[in-house]
Amino acid sequence: MDPVGVAAAPDAGPGPAWRSKCPWGAPNTTSISCSLADVMSEQLAKELQLEEENAAFPEVVAVAEGPFITGENIDTSSDLMLAQMLQMEFDREYDAQLRREEKKINGDSKVSISFENYRKVHPYDSDSSEDEVDWQDTRHDPYRADKPTTTPRRGFIGKGKDITTKHDEVVCGRKNTARMENFAPEFQVGDGIGMDLKLSNQVFNALKQHAYSEERRSARLHEKKEHSTAEKAVDPKTRLLLYKMVNAGMLETITGCISTGKESVVFHAYGGKSATEDKVIPPECAIKVFKTTLNEFKNRDKYIKDDYRFKDRFSKLNPRKIIRMWAEKEMHNLTRMQNAGIPCPQVVILKKHVLVMSFIGQDQVPAPKLKDVTLSSEDMKKAYYQILNMMQQLYKGCNLVHADLSEYNMLWHDGKVWLIDVSQSVEPTHPHGLEFLFRDCKNVSQFFQKGGVAEALNERELFNAVSGLNITADNEVDFQAEIEALEKMNEDHVQNHGKKLSMFSSDGDPPIYDE
Ligand code: ADP
Ligand code: MN
Repeated sequence: MDPVGVAAAPDAGPGPAWRSKCPWGAPNTTSISCSLADVMSEQLAKELQLEEENAAFPEVVAVAEGPFITGENIDTSSDLMLAQMLQMEFDREYDAQLRREEKKINGDSKVSISFENYRKVHPYDSDSSEDEVDWQDTRHDPYRADKPTTTPRRGFIGKGKDITTKHDEVVCGRKNTARMENFAPEFQVGDGIGMDLKLSNQVFNALKQHAYSEERRSARLHEKKEHSTAEKAVDPKTRLLLYKMVNAGMLETITGCISTGKESVVFHAYGGKSATEDKVIPPECAIKVFKTTLNEFKNRDKYIKDDYRFKDRFSKLNPRKIIRMWAEKEMHNLTRMQNAGIPCPQVVILKKHVLVMSFIGQDQVPAPKLKDVTLSSEDMKKAYYQILNMMQQLYKGCNLVHADLSEYNMLWHDGKVWLIDVSQSVEPTHPHGLEFLFRDCKNVSQFFQKGGVAEALNERELFNAVSGLNITADNEVDFQAEIEALEKMNEDHVQNHGKKLSMFSSDGDPPIYDE
């Protein structure tokens, strides 16, 4: 009986009057005549049901005859079958990709590896003759061991002195070889799986360890790409941090990028509401995201490595943590400056490598850098004295040397100079602290002397004025040599008398939030 006939059978009952009125017309199938006894027969009912089921779920037949594969004679009336077809199609695509990978890896090599075990559709399901060969090759591989014997639950087979336990060396060795199939496809195990290899537990464990670490390594490589903070864009983790700040209402909106430097990206944001009463979030904020691309930071090691405040921590940290430390350092230094009354951004919050501070500027327009602004000679003179004063404050009041002070890191806002970018600032007793100070002095002197401020001290005078030291050398080379000698003396002193008391934890820093 054909399936259409079966489906039509129940409709065969009504007479010709009904059939002529039917809006879909008369079915063009001939009805099957059967007696009342037949209709009532349990035997017939069972047969009909069976055939109906077969029509709806023909998977048993399908695999053998291959309607999924050839794409012909497909009955699309069953959802299950459609789903199976789609799955099969998907699996076949997956396998095709796998086959390409396999080919790529094996190339012309005499020894090849097989991805057979990772296929979704097994060769006997497939109509490709190529697969047939593969299938036969591996199934009847002369080297292939018999299927590894499985030990029953009780842990041994055999009787008396023929007992073989699950710890048997040969059984274990074969099992271990077979277990290599579980390694990731990229992990090249050669055709060892096919041979009657007996891997000792020790060798297998070493291989397994290696396979896993390889997997992790490739995952990490992928991760690295994700993590690097590219030009203007931020990596997904940073984005999540920023998103959380907005979501918590702390920031209203992040409007855009103000600056992309080698080491940081700075964004502008409108401040939101603080979770705590005592803290007020400024109406406009600057978000400094320290770049997580590591190589740029290598040459900054010298600032932090020798900073005794970080000494104990530096050696134990991975590069990612060191970058967070830059952000942390900027936060602490800004707080010290704030406490000393030096005009600088106010810290709002630090989260990992993201530092939120008050925005110097207005309506999304950042205050210009001193190098970009044209000041009247009066303002220029005012700016100079202010900076001289700030440098002294920084040195004496904050126990800090800026270490990157120049017209690039000073903003002109509200008729005065604001200091920014203090992540690299160090204490004067840093092994190179005085050299950094001298460099700062050179930048400042040059800028103001070129800018026409007649009163501007030269770099050596400025250095002495800021540090309170009295280095008398009258040329740069000698001056530099004396500075280095002082640093050396200080270093020896620290060596002999132990570390200085850290001022690090006593400057009333804001809380560090972490998950
Ligand atoms: P970098 O290490 O990249 O030089 P900076 O801290 O100097 O980082 O910031 C880069 C630029 O971003 C600055 O030159 C300034 O234009 C802008 N900027 C940084 N912080 C602020 C701030 N709080 N308010 C306004 N602009 C800022
Ligand atoms: Mn800068």
